[in-house]
Amino acid sequence: MPELPEVETIRRELEPLLVGRRIDRVAVHRHDIVGFPDADVFVRMAAGHTVTRLARRGKYLILELDRERDLVIHLRLSGHLEVVGPNVTPRYERARFALSDGRALSFAEPRVLGKVYLVMRSHYPAVLAGMQGMGQEPTGAGFTPRYLADALRGRRASVKSLLLDQRICCGVGNIYSDEALFRAGIRPTRRAGRLSPVEVRRLARELRRVLDDGIRWCGTTMADARYVLPNGARGRFQERLRVFGREGRHCRRPGCSGTVRRVKIGNRGTRFCPVCQK
Ligand SMILES: [Zn+2]
Repeated sequence: MPELPEVETIRRELEPLLVGRRIDRVAVHRHDIVGFPDADVFVRMAAGHTVTRLARRGKYLILELDRERDLVIHLRLSGHLEVVGPNVTPRYERARFALSDGRALSFAEPRVLGKVYLVMRSHYPAVLAGMQGMGQEPTGAGFTPRYLADALRGRRASVKSLLLDQRICCGVGNIYSDEALFRAGIRPTRRAGRLSPVEVRRLARELRRVLDDGIRWCGTTMADARYVLPNGARGRFQERLRVFGREGRHCRRPGCSGTVRRVKIGNRGTRFCPVCQK
């Protein structure tokens, strides 16, 4: 699933192609791709608006439109956004936004799990309530060691499962939580409330660093290629992963003789080096 670095990469790639363009027509090929309002209302209401800015909140991409509307897009597992010419229809296209420059923003999603929402900026509907309860952006100024310490204090859950909690670390998913814990030298099964202040500080720092690195390398494209950039290119952070997707292989830290292990935590596959992570 695209996480913060992948959605941020998509945001940066699409922004120059969309800002200042008006959405002239909207076509929805699968009604269940529309999360709010009803699909026929969505089609009518989204047309005629101009894109003013692209924003991101956690794993949600937000096309800010004129007249206080937001077009919110959640890619889920395999959603793909692309700006295409008028005669190009990508496979699995579910919704299409024809733009004033003759091109179109196409939203393809083989599984139809992704969603688009058209909402008033001042009032997000209950169906998007998860966005209001979201925690700090881990790459933002508000994500301080103290913030993370407060969120983990007294918690009996594993540190891995709390890193995946969008109310604490929004935008973080399975890849970057495993990588941050490796870099911080913390075993993912540890009880969150038992981390020392030094470990919490290290974790806050490494989480920010690994997400920044992920953005710098345009995200992670695994072998299934569920995530690619809007122009079809692959991300390049997968070449730099230390534990994610590397179970059974040698730890990449120089001098370490450990083998990366995989366990399940809360039904999520979790990778770590038993030598480097205490
Ligand atoms: Zn190791």
